[in-house]
Amino acid sequence: MRAQPTASHFIDGEYVEDDAGTVIESLYPATGEIIARLYAATPGIVEKAIAAAKRAQPEWAAMSPTARGRILKRAADIMRERNRELSELETLDTGKPIQETIVADPTSGADSFEFFGGVIAAGLNGSYIPLGGDFAYTKHVPLGVCVGIGAWNYPQQIACWKAAPALAAGNAMVFKPSENTPLGALKIAEILIEAGLPKGLFNVIQGDRDTGPLLVNHPDVAKVSLTGSVPTGRKVAAAAAGNLKHVTMELGGKSPLIVFDDADIDSAVGGAMLGNFYSTGQVCSNGTRVFVQKGIKGEFLKRLKARTEAMVIGDPMDDATQIGPMVSWAQREKVLDYIDKGKAEGATLVVGGGIPNNVSGEGYYVQPTVFADVTDEMTIAREEIFGPVMCVLDFEDEAEVIARGNATEFGLAAGVFTSDMSRAHRVVDLLEAGTLWINTYNLCPVEIPFGGSKQSGFGRENSIAALEHYSELKTVYVGMGPVQAPY
Ligand code: NAD
Repeated sequence: MRAQPTASHFIDGEYVEDDAGTVIESLYPATGEIIARLYAATPGIVEKAIAAAKRAQPEWAAMSPTARGRILKRAADIMRERNRELSELETLDTGKPIQETIVADPTSGADSFEFFGGVIAAGLNGSYIPLGGDFAYTKHVPLGVCVGIGAWNYPQQIACWKAAPALAAGNAMVFKPSENTPLGALKIAEILIEAGLPKGLFNVIQGDRDTGPLLVNHPDVAKVSLTGSVPTGRKVAAAAAGNLKHVTMELGGKSPLIVFDDADIDSAVGGAMLGNFYSTGQVCSNGTRVFVQKGIKGEFLKRLKARTEAMVIGDPMDDATQIGPMVSWAQREKVLDYIDKGKAEGATLVVGGGIPNNVSGEGYYVQPTVFADVTDEMTIAREEIFGPVMCVLDFEDEAEVIARGNATEFGLAAGVFTSDMSRAHRVVDLLEAGTLWINTYNLCPVEIPFGGSKQSGFGRENSIAALEHYSELKTVYVGMGPVQAPY
């Protein structure tokens, strides 16, 4: 098996196996080939991982921020040196084209280690509060053992986006990747050890929806950060509430992308394609409801159709490939089912709409698909599809499109294309979302906060804001004179 790791779990600085766990087969989505066989964590493995994290954390937290930062920076350097190898593994794990993974996955993880290593070294300092004689000060203290639970669309990036701020702030982490993509996080654990991270601080255990609760319910865990769907988010938040753990929820979306008739049409088409077809549409913040103002609808659809038809679908390891398979057979079935619903409910199929005929029958491929004349009530306009299916809706005016854009339980992201900057700022101000873009889409550099509102979650990843979600404030009041007691 061409991607078999040394063992299923990485705990306390080394690979660990326990074949009593349920078997997890890792399949290459382009061919269906079994590339690794692993075992879900047994309760014993979960205990071992949490105990290792708990043991290692106090000494790590006591190190100087510069020393912690230096190790994270070294991990970033190693990831960049091994970018090709890590990207190929990410492509095997997910089926995403190497054209993407080589620029967007390990590199984004490396950015995260570099950024948080630098920020912590620069000082996540508290404040001094003068009180007229007495004074107080605050400091940021780590939470302790944090749990990260990942989705399958960006396995290495998600592991790093959680590990980097957690470790920078002085915590230890136990990370559980998605059962669909178990491989990448193990490599991140190896690299952190190579970079000098003391053992026990970043542990990876495998498992599925039955394993996650063992972590979330554990009394020694102080925080849970989940990237996943809204239904899973509800379950995890409810379980974490049992003993009042901190939570960060990075959940799903059905984001509006609004194109006004004064927009640069080619840019808007490019933004809409990136925001629907990158990673074969498996991106949480995708702008899957593309609202196009009526005056430019014809021209927009004409250019969109031509550019979508020209996309290269095929072998993800080929540098020219732009569209790879879905992550799993089940995900492809789900997406094809939504495409059938779009057709049945009366949307106009502009391009795509099925399985491409130029690829192996064993791979989980779906054509990049565009529906026009989509209305707000259609299933494809309301539910998260998580595949390469773009819905184009028409609109007449600004107030109408803001109201319709907001008419969803989700609030992850939104985008506006227009050449009128006053309008752009006015509209983003009224759109209900955590992350918004003007005249671009889906760019998430580590410097800016990323996260959702409404049912799309809470807490933020990336930027200095993420450190606040992996630490808490300790306030110290210092009395400088005698205590004035009335008794
Ligand atoms: P999912 O919710 O099925 O699973 C996510 C993770 O949670 C997996 O590791 C799974 O094993 C685990 N899990 C499932 N049930 C659990 C439980 N009861 N307790 C603890 N853990 C449990 O999601 P998915 O199918 O892996 O990923 C797709 C979803 O993730 C989409 O909805 C997408 O929008 C969302 N997503 C969000 C972001 C973001 O940053 N907002 C990023 C990527 C993906």
